[in-house]
Amino acid sequence: GKPVLEVRDLEVTFKTYGGTVQAVRGVNFDVYKGETLAIVGESGSGKSVTSSAIMGLIPSPPGEITRGNVQFKGNDLTKLSKKDMREIRGVDISMIFQDPMTALNPTLKIGDQLTEGIRQHQKLSKAQANEKALEMMKLVGIPNPEERLKQYPHQFSGGMRQRIVIAIALMCEPELLIADEPTTALDVTIQAQILELFEEIQKKTGVSIILITHDLGVVAKIAHRIAVMYAGKIVEIGTKREVFYQPEHPYTQGLLDSVPRLDLKGKPLEPIEGTPPDLFSPPAGCPFAARCPHAMFVCEKVVPPSERLSETHQADCWLLDERAQR
Ligand code: SF4
Ligand code: MG
Repeated sequence: GKPVLEVRDLEVTFKTYGGTVQAVRGVNFDVYKGETLAIVGESGSGKSVTSSAIMGLIPSPPGEITRGNVQFKGNDLTKLSKKDMREIRGVDISMIFQDPMTALNPTLKIGDQLTEGIRQHQKLSKAQANEKALEMMKLVGIPNPEERLKQYPHQFSGGMRQRIVIAIALMCEPELLIADEPTTALDVTIQAQILELFEEIQKKTGVSIILITHDLGVVAKIAHRIAVMYAGKIVEIGTKREVFYQPEHPYTQGLLDSVPRLDLKGKPLEPIEGTPPDLFSPPAGCPFAARCPHAMFVCEKVVPPSERLSETHQADCWLLDERAQR
């Protein structure tokens, strides 16, 4: 079918005293109905900036979307006014952040926090909004929802708070949920429960999910497709099977080599020697050239083209191009 979201040629820069940081450098991907696309990368790879750009949350200044577009329901989100974007955010596209405590207001009852947005956006009566809140509390598996709606955030465990954050995100029945490291702040058993919850919710509602993470275990568990980001670019994208079992980009191969297959859980992505390039002055050629065990002469000079490996699989590497002389 047609994608729910189409990101094309997205470029985001930040002006600082030290110069201009090219945080996202021409990113392309689609998100389809009912799927989970994981965007994987080290910190500073541009994955969170990409999601902020989709949500219209790039602080400007110093940030700016300098190129590209984001198509969603017939709109280019990068062109919408702040006011129009507010009507999409939390309604058609919702976001879940890492720390459930900062996402919740400690002074407001859970019930009020659940119903605030939907009453504003959909003009529901208090009773209708409460009804919906109860439904969502049940959907995310919170016991005794009627009593719990009258309580405050501190009366819930970390895992329960993240369930509430998810319930709030789902109140307006969004088509797209963006979850940025949604389980990083939680302990391992709770993490697993929250990931199962995402899967359950997706089955029941058909919501599409963009999952931003550095945790390959999380990816292995719930992603359908994976985009690997490095130095502001997607260097490889494919189905979970393609990226995990037939990785073609040396960076992806390095990530996966560093992790024992059966123990993907909770592994940070810092396995390859060296550091990512300075995004104040990104390299002219392949961003991975300085760390790549296969780097050739051309790699340092010319940006590698995207090679299509299958209907669903793509990687940006000169090794895949017949024109490159080894
Ligand atoms: Fe390595 Fe060259 Fe491929 Fe970049 S383009 S990943 S440097 S082989
Ligand atoms: Mg981040």
